[in-house]
Amino acid sequence: YHISQSCQVRSYGNLQNSDVIDKIRNFGILAHIDAGKTTTTERMLFYSGTIKQMGEVHHGNTVTDFMDQERNRGITITSAAVTFGWNGHRFNLIDTPGHIDFTMEVEQTLQVLDGAVVILDGSAGVEAQTCTVWSQADKHELPRIAFVNKMDRADEDLLEMAVEEKIRLVELLADVDEILAEEVIQRESLSNVGPAELKAAIRRATLSRLCVPVLCGSSYHNVGVQPLMDAVGLYLPSPLDRPKDSLVELFKGSFCARAFKIRHDEHKGAVTFMRIFSGNLQKGQKVFNVRQQKAEQTGQMMVAYADEFQEVQEMSSGNIVSVTGLKDTFAGDLVTGNLSSANSAKEKLMKLKGIDA
Ligand code: GDP
Repeated sequence: YHISQSCQVRSYGNLQNSDVIDKIRNFGILAHIDAGKTTTTERMLFYSGTIKQMGEVHHGNTVTDFMDQERNRGITITSAAVTFGWNGHRFNLIDTPGHIDFTMEVEQTLQVLDGAVVILDGSAGVEAQTCTVWSQADKHELPRIAFVNKMDRADEDLLEMAVEEKIRLVELLADVDEILAEEVIQRESLSNVGPAELKAAIRRATLSRLCVPVLCGSSYHNVGVQPLMDAVGLYLPSPLDRPKDSLVELFKGSFCARAFKIRHDEHKGAVTFMRIFSGNLQKGQKVFNVRQQKAEQTGQMMVAYADEFQEVQEMSSGNIVSVTGLKDTFAGDLVTGNLSSANSAKEKLMKLKGIDA
């Protein structure tokens, strides 16, 4: 792996057209504190060419730590979601709250993800919060990749101390290799399995939540972060891979989105981050809040890149956008394109187990 040339130019990492829905990956990073979520996020932005300089976490100058600068410039660098390109994919990395106490916030965020990367600290093994985020991902039936980070640490004492934890780690992830091996052996008995077939087999098993691909590496190195991004593209779901009973099925092409984060911006006022599940959203469109059965007027519509919001005129299903102008829409609320679909949606949603208006 080499640092891509695109780091030199402002390219947002060769971003795919937002209409190519099967190239979209809406994913979050879940981790115990200190496992390396910030470092990994920042390095993903760097290696994808989205930011030109790497910060060090302990210097307090990573993209996600620039809160003061963010306020001064009136934009959101560290956003509720950041969009960038990798290997022909459009990645929407959605920020999951670090503090597990904000359970409602975590739940609202998990509802808009299609998949997740769970980061473990290789020198610490399975930690308390690893288990919490793991079971949250289970609850939301999220296909996931495990990234065992900090493997550059050659601290033997530390590793020895963590042996017990590592055994738990292996147990947690044990079903992975077995199922993968089974798939491959089955295929091998038919013909020699090539890398493409193997990847397809892993993808199917990952999407059906039968396996969790595990990558070991270090977010300090491109050989950790770049293969991790490849794996996100290869194994995590696109919005088309969502289960049948999802909002996509329910709304059948008419506009429906879920708000998952509201940020207050000095210049723009409330900025509402939404995941579009179905249909398109136009700039300045009127939307209807399903819970409140109320119309709301959107203003600007934007996509959040690492260091700026870029205005867009229209956004299609599967994408993440932020809009201004919504006053009564809260995180977790669903919005639709017209009153009648808001009305029928409420009824349908009440019948549908697991989907809450
Ligand atoms: P977060 O709390 O999960 O966001 O973790 P951070 O990204 O802030 O990382 C916590 C600490 O671990 C920081 O001091 C990082 O520099 C360090 N760290 C992160 N990734 C690695 C890695 O791959 N190897 C080593 N040795 N340290 C790492």
